[in-house]
Amino acid sequence: MDGSGMPTTCSTCPYCGVGCGVLLRPDGHGGLDVKGDPDHPANGGRLCSKGSALAETVGLDNRLLTPRIGGQQASWDSALTLVADRFRQTIADHGPDSVAFYVSGQLLTEDYYVANKLMKGFIGSANIDTNSRLCMASTVAGHRRAFGTDTVPGTYEDLEEADVIVLVGSNLAWCHPVLYQRILAAQKARGTRIVVIDPRRTASCDTAEMHLPVKAGGDVPLFNRLLVRLYEGGALDKEFLARVNGFDDTLRAAYADDVAATGLDADLVERFCDLWMRNEKVVTIFSQGVNQSSAGADKVNAILNCHLATGRIGRPGMGPFSVTGQPNAMGGREVGGLANMLACHLDLENSEHRGAVRQFWQSPAMPEAPGLKAVDMFRAVGEGQIKALWIIHTNPAVSMPDADRVRDAIAGCDFTVVSDITDQTDTARLADVLLPAAAWGEKDGTVTNSDRTISRQRPVLPIPGEARPDWQQLAEVGRRMGWHAAFDYETPAEIFREYAALSGIAGRFGKDFDISLWAALDDRGYAALRPTRWPVTVARQGGRFFADGQFYHPDGKARMIPVTYRAPAAKTGPRYPFRFNTGRIRDQWHTMTRTALSPRLSAHLAEPYLDLHPNDAADLGVQPADLVRVRSPGGKQSILRARITADMQPGDVFAPMHWTGETAPSARIDALVAPVTDPVSGQPESKAGVVAVERLKAR
Ligand code: SF4
Repeated sequence: MDGSGMPTTCSTCPYCGVGCGVLLRPDGHGGLDVKGDPDHPANGGRLCSKGSALAETVGLDNRLLTPRIGGQQASWDSALTLVADRFRQTIADHGPDSVAFYVSGQLLTEDYYVANKLMKGFIGSANIDTNSRLCMASTVAGHRRAFGTDTVPGTYEDLEEADVIVLVGSNLAWCHPVLYQRILAAQKARGTRIVVIDPRRTASCDTAEMHLPVKAGGDVPLFNRLLVRLYEGGALDKEFLARVNGFDDTLRAAYADDVAATGLDADLVERFCDLWMRNEKVVTIFSQGVNQSSAGADKVNAILNCHLATGRIGRPGMGPFSVTGQPNAMGGREVGGLANMLACHLDLENSEHRGAVRQFWQSPAMPEAPGLKAVDMFRAVGEGQIKALWIIHTNPAVSMPDADRVRDAIAGCDFTVVSDITDQTDTARLADVLLPAAAWGEKDGTVTNSDRTISRQRPVLPIPGEARPDWQQLAEVGRRMGWHAAFDYETPAEIFREYAALSGIAGRFGKDFDISLWAALDDRGYAALRPTRWPVTVARQGGRFFADGQFYHPDGKARMIPVTYRAPAAKTGPRYPFRFNTGRIRDQWHTMTRTALSPRLSAHLAEPYLDLHPNDAADLGVQPADLVRVRSPGGKQSILRARITADMQPGDVFAPMHWTGETAPSARIDALVAPVTDPVSGQPESKAGVVAVERLKAR
C-alpha cells in the first residue's frame, strides 16, 4: 500500500529476457501506475523506455472479449467443445502427429507446462513448438552439445564483475537496455572494457573501445582464431581441460579455419585476441546475431570452446552468457516447450527420462521422437500434414520467415484455433475459433529470465469480458478430450506445484534443475514467491554452474565441438547483391500489438525503413528518405524508407522486423526472409538473407 491507499503489486515486465521487476498500482480509472521494483535483482528499480511505457499499453483498446467461431460471437462452452472435438476427431482419423500447437515466449511457465503436458503426455505427439525457436534455439543446441544440458552458466552479477565484456551479435543497448545500463554503471565504476562484434555499428558501440564489423557468418572463424591464439599464447587452463573432451579435434578445426572469412582487418582481430587473452575476467554475451543463423549452433559452440579451453566459465566475472529475447523464453525451455525437449531439462529421446515423466503424468501416450520445429511445422501445415493447429499468443502470419507462405498455410489449414488478447493480428483473422486470453497485468504465474531468476507475474487488473488465462483454456480442452484428472487444475499455483514436483525427478537424473522444495508451497506461499534464481538445491544454491568442472554429459565432462566456417545459405550475386539483416529497434516489441498503443514509443522511429551504406545509396541513386523497393529471391517485396548511414558496411542492408501487415501493409519484413534453418537447432537464418534494392520513383 502506498500513500494513495491503493495496493502496490510486485510483478515482472512482459517484454524482454532481462525480466525486470515492476511495481504496479491501479490508478483507479482502469489503468496502472508502473515503476521499477528497487528490490528486484534483475533491475534494482531501473526500467527502459518500453518498461516505463507499460501503463500506456494496458486497457481495452482492440481487446478480444468473447470467443468467436467463424467470426461470430460464441459461448465458451461451444468454442471449447468444438476445439476438443475437432482435435480428437483429427487424431482419430490421422494420428497424433496430424495436430500441432505453436506457442510463445509470452506464455507464463504454468501455461507452457500445461500445453506441453497436453501435447506430449496425452495427445502423444511432440508437435509443440514456440516462437522462441526464432530466438534462442541455437543457444539451446549449443549448450546441450557442450554441457550436456541447456544451462546458462553465469549470472547478471558477472557482468558487473567482468573486466571485459564482449557483445557478439547483440545490440544490448536497444534490445536488453537495463542490462546495458548495469554494464555502463560498472564501466563508470571500474572501467569495464566493451567490445562489440556485429556487422552493423549499433548503439551498443557508443561506449565500446573496439567494434569488429564481422561479415555475416564470420563469428566461427573469429572465435577459432581466438582459440588458436589462446593455445599459442599459453592461455589454456590445463587443469580445467582435464574435465573437457574434444580439445585436440577442436583445435585442429580451428587451425584449419580461414580468418579471412571474418572480413575483418587482421590487426583488429589480433587486438581483440590480445584483449581477451590478457584479461581473465571476460564475459561473452551473445544473442540473435549468433542464434539466427544457419550455423547458429556452431557459432554458439565456437564461443563456448574458448571459455571451456581457458576454464573461464561460471566463476565471478567470467563466462559465456546468452541473453534471451522474450520474457519467458527460459521458462519455456525449463518445462519443455520445444519440440525436441521434455519438461525439466529431461530429454525426449532418452527412454529413462521419457519413462519417468510418463509415469509421473500417468500418460496414455508419449512420443519417442522430436516433433516438428517451427519452420517445418508451418511447412507441414501448408502441405496438409497438420490438419488442426492451435496458435497461442503469437503472430506467425507476420513473424515467421517466408511469412506470406505461412499466412497462406494457416488460411488453408482444416482447423485453426488462435488464443490471443486481440483479434487485430494477421494470424487472428485466419482463425476458425478465436479464444480471448488474459493479458499482462491480468495474468497470474511465473516467468524465468536470462540468468535463471524465476519471478512472478501477478494480476492487478480484472480480466475483462469473458477472457480467460491460457492454462485454463488448455486444461479445459484437455478435460473435454477425456483426461479429466490430469487437467483438473483450479489455480496456477497447483500447476506450479506439480511442475516443481516433476523437477525432483530431473534431480534424480543428475540435473540441478530441481525446484521440488517448492512442491509444498501453499497458495499463499506461491502468491508471495520472491524472485529466486535456480538452482535452489542446497549444493548449488543461487550460484553459477560449471566452474567445478561438473557437467551433464554421461561422463560428467564438457565437450568442445570442432566447428569451421559455413557461409550463410543465401549467396549474394548480380541479381540480389545485398546481404539482408533484420532485427529490433529500441522502442518496439515484436509485431507491435502492444507497443504501438504507446504514442511515446511510436515516436522513436515512426515507420519501417531500410538502412544502407552511403556508397550503395550513391550507386543506386538513393537520397535520404527516398522510398526503396526491396525484393527477395522468393519473389516478395517491401517498400521502405531509405536511411543512409555509415553504420552499415557496404553491401549490407538492415530493416527492423516489427511492422506488419496491419501497421504497414507494404512492409512485411519477414516475408522477405527465406525459410532456411540451422540443421542442428532448427532456428531460421533471419539475419543473412539476400535482396535487391531499387529507388521506387523519381523525385
Ligand atoms: Fe522490460 Fe526488458 Fe526494458 Fe527490463 S529491459 S524494462 S524487461 S523491456
